[in-house]
Amino acid sequence: MREPQLVLRKDGRRATLVPLGKKAFGRDFLVVAGPCSVEGDASFLALARRLKAAGVDGLRGGAFKPRTSPYEFQGLGIEGLKILAAAREETGLPVVTEIMDARDLEAGCRYADMIQIGSRNMQNYTLLKEAGSIDKPVLLKRGMSATLMEWLNAAEYILAGGNNRVVLCERGIRTFEPATRFSLDLNIVPAARGLTHLPIIVDPSHGTGRSSMVGSMSLAAVAAGAQGLLIEVHPRPQNALSDNDQQYPLVQFPALMKRIRKTAALMESFARRPSRAPRS
Ligand code: PEP
Ligand code: MN
Repeated sequence: MREPQLVLRKDGRRATLVPLGKKAFGRDFLVVAGPCSVEGDASFLALARRLKAAGVDGLRGGAFKPRTSPYEFQGLGIEGLKILAAAREETGLPVVTEIMDARDLEAGCRYADMIQIGSRNMQNYTLLKEAGSIDKPVLLKRGMSATLMEWLNAAEYILAGGNNRVVLCERGIRTFEPATRFSLDLNIVPAARGLTHLPIIVDPSHGTGRSSMVGSMSLAAVAAGAQGLLIEVHPRPQNALSDNDQQYPLVQFPALMKRIRKTAALMESFARRPSRAPRS
C-alpha cells in the first residue's frame, strides 16, 4: 500500500484545526451530543435547549440512518435535516449529521455545519471523494473492522480532494468480546495522534453500546488524549427509535458534562506542564 501523503504528521507539520461554530477541534476540547436519530421537531428542540444548558459545543442527530434491518426506523431524511437546522437557529449551536450517500451531500451541506461519514461508509470511496470537494468539515468515523492505516487512507481521500477539515472519530471495533456491542479501542487515540496532524475524538456510545459504560469510557477517552467526544443523549432512551441501549439519559448528562470538563482541564494542565514521570 502506498503511504498516505497528506494525513501524516511529517516535516514538523502543525496540528490541523477543524472549525465547528466558533470553536475548533484540535484547539478546544469539544463535546458534541444529541440523540442517535432526529425523531421529531418538538422533541429535538427541547433536547437541544437542555444540551445547550449543559454546555455542549455542538448538536448531533441522524437524519439518514444506517440500520442493520430494512424494517427498522430509517430516519426522517431531509425533514430531519431541517429540524437540525431549526435547532441550530434556536440555540446557536452547530449541528453534525451523517450522510450515507453522495447524492445527499449537497442537502447535508445546506443544513448542517459538519458532515459525518459513518463507520459503515468509511470505505465508500465515492462518498469520500465527494466529501473532498465540499465546503464543510467532515467527521470520519473509523470502520468497525478498519486498521489505523486503512482509516488514515480513508481520510487521505478527503484531503486529496482538497478538503483538509477532517476529524477522526474512534467508535469501537469488532472483536471476539460479546459483552459490549463493540470494543472501544482507546489504544488508537495515542497511536493516531502520533501519526497524523488531524484531530481525533471518541464516541463512547457506539464504542460500548451500553449507556452504563458511557460515563467511565468518556473520561477514559479524555485521559487517553481524545480531543473531543461524540455522545448519544436521549430524554427517554428506552423509547428511542434507534440505539436505545446506549443513549445516555438526559437527566444524568449535566453531571457527566462537569466530570468531562474537569478531566479535560486536568489533561490540559498536564500538557502545559509536562511531568518528569517516565511515559510508559
Ligand atoms: C451514529 O453516529 O449514530 C452511527 C450510526 O454511528 P456509527 O457509524 O459509528 O455506527
Ligand atoms: Mn447511533
